[in-house]
Amino acid sequence: MKILVTGGAGFIGSHLVEHLLAAGHEVTALDDLSTGSEANVPAGAALERIDLRDGDAVRRSLAAVAPEVVLHEAGQSDVRVSTREPERDAAVNVIGGIHLLEACVAAKVRKVVYASTGGAVYGNPQRVPVTEDAPVRPISQYGISKHTVEHYLFLYRQLYGLDYTVLRYPNVYGPRQSPRGEAGVISIFARAALRGEPVQIFGDGLQTRDYVYVSDIVAANRAVLADVGGGEIFNVGTGVGVSVLEIRDGLARVLGREVASLHLPPRPGEVSHIALDGGRFVAATGWSPTVSLVDGIRQTVEYVGRYEV
Ligand code: NAD
Repeated sequence: MKILVTGGAGFIGSHLVEHLLAAGHEVTALDDLSTGSEANVPAGAALERIDLRDGDAVRRSLAAVAPEVVLHEAGQSDVRVSTREPERDAAVNVIGGIHLLEACVAAKVRKVVYASTGGAVYGNPQRVPVTEDAPVRPISQYGISKHTVEHYLFLYRQLYGLDYTVLRYPNVYGPRQSPRGEAGVISIFARAALRGEPVQIFGDGLQTRDYVYVSDIVAANRAVLADVGGGEIFNVGTGVGVSVLEIRDGLARVLGREVASLHLPPRPGEVSHIALDGGRFVAATGWSPTVSLVDGIRQTVEYVGRYEV
């Protein structure tokens, strides 16, 4: 299959590119390299260096590549950046998303798989683990911009027959997630601990998230490449919330020593407790996460130790 991965030079996108190539697909990465890096794009994949905000360039690129399926991973992916720069967040995630969908229609793409966020669209849900029918009440600009594209997907399927599946991701972690930004607590903690610095915990550290290792997210995408889950929105998650303190303790277990922490004030826009009920996705696809948290932390620590310290 001919597949285009937007954000293919980023953390999740580059893992998708790597696995799809290995499975024999013809893969192109589309990325502006703003947070991603060319070094992340495996040999064997083509790279289209394009900013999604440039609608003409996106349209030309999709017409030239003519993919059957587009995995849409590119985006402004940081909650705190969205709060500081809401216009840029919307320009990349919403306007860039519209450019992509328009280009997909023009290029007769069969299906878009969209990397949405279960961690940010629900805000602070009343019940955890949260199901897909819970109210969408984002408490960050990022949650709003990511959710908005879900509406466009619904509309474009009605108007133009462009098929799609929305995957609402949990907290994805693993090798190649940057430990230098503000998102990606496992990489950030691993880098600090390996440098002998205390890990910074915002608030009491009891806030919980649903963590899934990146190879399991790749498997989730692969499960919906064909005609599975058309027009559907799925949570992808374990249903289990893990606290920041538990992440610190898991890291200590992997390193075989204590990890010191420094408590700072909580940050605005962060949800308190979230875990995603992935029951509908499991029933539809048979997907289930395979990498335990401690194994995932171990692999992340190995990567951070080799490339990021
Ligand atoms: P990432 O920042 O590593 O990857 C995003 C990629 O998009 C980067 O390579 C970046 O260069 C590219 N990009 C950014 N702006 C662009 C633009 N204007 N034009 C073209 N390319 C652009 O982030 P990630 O963690 O790999 O996230 C991938 C996707 O998954 C994002 O859409 C994010 O919102 C979503 N997501 C991630 C998580 C997570 O835990 N990592 C959770 C939920 C949803």
